[in-house]
Amino acid sequence: MTETVLAVLNQPSRDAAPHDPAADAFTFAGPLEEHIQVQDLGIIRGDGVFETITVVDGHPQAVEPHLARFERSARMLDLPVPDVDAWRRAVEAVCAELDPVREAFVKTVLTRGVEGAERPTGWVYAAPSGDSTAARTEGISVVTLDRGYRHDVERTSPWLLQGAKTLSYAVNMAALREAARRGADDAVFVSTDGYVLEGTRANLVLSVGGRLVTPRTDIGILAGTTQADVFRFAAEAGIETAYELITLDDFHAADAAWLVSSVRQAAPIRAVNGNAREIDAELTTRINEFLLAREV
Ligand code: PLP
Repeated sequence: MTETVLAVLNQPSRDAAPHDPAADAFTFAGPLEEHIQVQDLGIIRGDGVFETITVVDGHPQAVEPHLARFERSARMLDLPVPDVDAWRRAVEAVCAELDPVREAFVKTVLTRGVEGAERPTGWVYAAPSGDSTAARTEGISVVTLDRGYRHDVERTSPWLLQGAKTLSYAVNMAALREAARRGADDAVFVSTDGYVLEGTRANLVLSVGGRLVTPRTDIGILAGTTQADVFRFAAEAGIETAYELITLDDFHAADAAWLVSSVRQAAPIRAVNGNAREIDAELTTRINEFLLAREV
């Protein structure tokens, strides 16, 4: 059994005083419970940010885009800015310590720290991933769920933190349970004004008339690292791409659709709200082969 590998950041932000001035930027550690205090605001309020990075054959993928989004999310929460070099080294170090496994993941977590301590908490851990083969080959069923926000929420109400990858995923998990109650594998959020947004833990990509189209990233959704790499695949394959406002009708009318994310990669959508839809098996295979072979 491959164990989880944990590293605790000694200096999680550029300006944080190091825990131990004599220690390196991070230290390997034992079980998580020994290191995270029960009053940590990341735990009691979900006040922090995180990233999940895929690791294939020991190689972490899209590290720079993940770290750039980690920093962007931290800035959106007015958290101390992470020391990206220290985090990169910690990511590489936990990957190097992980027992050989085909697919794993690394999580980077930065919280506001213990109330009053004025010091963020940071840790990185790696563990083997579950098997995503069925989702990639047989596809997934989704339901559409109202997110309760307009598509311009990021501009009108930035305090709602839509578009930041915060630790507050209780809502996303509740949506996932609602999807399960309705007999589906996952949910696609829709804005109150009728635009499709993203999945609970993934971005939506559509095939429309030979182009690959994804929702614009300024509508309160995460700018996905996997989606960006699907578009890199498309550029290399000579397939046109576009970021657009996509209505529910556009979604239903698309030739094919995927939820794309780190770890699961591209999962073709085979049913929406109980209605079966076509899977493009050939294009799905090509996209996943490209994603799993990423060197950067
Ligand atoms: N949207 C949400 C809400 C997510 O949680 C995630 C990933 O966890 C994504 C999109 C996809 O992001 P990425 O491809 O960088 O993993």
